[in-house]
Amino acid sequence: MVTTAIFPARYVQGKGALTSHLPQELALLGHKALILMDPVVHQLHRAPVETALAGVIEYEIEVFNSECSDEEIARISDKALGMGASVIVGMGGGKTLDTAKATGANLKSPVAIVPTLASTDAPCSSLVVIYTAEGEFKRYLMVPRNPDLVLVDSAIIAAAPVRFLVSGMGDALATWFEAEDCRIKGAGNMTARPGPMTAFELARFCYDTLMRYGRLAKLACEQHQVTPALEHVIEANTLLSGLGFESGGLAAAHAIHNGLTVLPQTHAYWHGEKVAFGTLAMLMLTDRAPELIDQVYQFCEDVGLPVTLADIGLADVSDSDLLEAAKASCMPGETMHNEPYEVTPETVLAAMRAADAVGRARKAQRQ
Ligand SMILES: [Zn+2]
Repeated sequence: MVTTAIFPARYVQGKGALTSHLPQELALLGHKALILMDPVVHQLHRAPVETALAGVIEYEIEVFNSECSDEEIARISDKALGMGASVIVGMGGGKTLDTAKATGANLKSPVAIVPTLASTDAPCSSLVVIYTAEGEFKRYLMVPRNPDLVLVDSAIIAAAPVRFLVSGMGDALATWFEAEDCRIKGAGNMTARPGPMTAFELARFCYDTLMRYGRLAKLACEQHQVTPALEHVIEANTLLSGLGFESGGLAAAHAIHNGLTVLPQTHAYWHGEKVAFGTLAMLMLTDRAPELIDQVYQFCEDVGLPVTLADIGLADVSDSDLLEAAKASCMPGETMHNEPYEVTPETVLAAMRAADAVGRARKAQRQ
């Protein structure tokens, strides 16, 4: 059996890293940078970034046009070619980062990724989600190389609303369970080949880090303070979960997440929040130990992740609507088929109802 793992080339994290370390890191990758900033980053961080870069590397700044679409990727690629950029930098949320990754792939240039939120595990990956200009999902793109640099400034993460960090913990919560099922099945990871033992151990370390530091990290982030616990969880959400999902593999939790998105009532809830509920349903679906299930519910309750259908906008959802979501989660090509267990839309529906019932019963008990 041939296994495959993929990684970003450098990962830099810490308080103040945006100004203290980004310039030298970029200088390792090229002499002229195109820096794509989302509008919020442009407003908040343009001035300090310019001061830090002065005299270290040539650069031009471009503001991201709100959608990671083929049109926007072409616009940024033209801009990069025109100015002779030798490194592409993305700063901001997921769509800005994805546009930078796709531009780098077009130009075969190094890519630096500077996430300003710890809300998903996408920054380290080679995955790009492309939307239409109107904002509807169009297709996935796997770029040939992971980012050459991922740099996270913990002070910027701590300054953001805590819901972003908690949502990132929801995304990271699924990583070990999904990687573990891929390992048992011998299923492919994001490269379509099985992952190596390294990926599975990193996925487990991701879970252990959340259990150990998640609660402390949430409290620190609420106070907008950088503490060691917050640093550990930023690393778990961004690096460990990224390596764990990409090289370990995805399974039921993300398939259930994708299924839930067919119900418009869930659209106000974020990726990691729906993944957290998908994880609880996955635990029911795959016959995990009751003690483990209890630990995961307790964690979700403590940090404020969804534990019931009502928590993701589905308070009065009918069985027929929920079955539509379950069917979507079992579509051909979905990562549900990485499960070593036999799964049908009916068993997924039962698992979602069971996960919701446990969440509601625990809520009632606490009151
Ligand atoms: Zn995810």
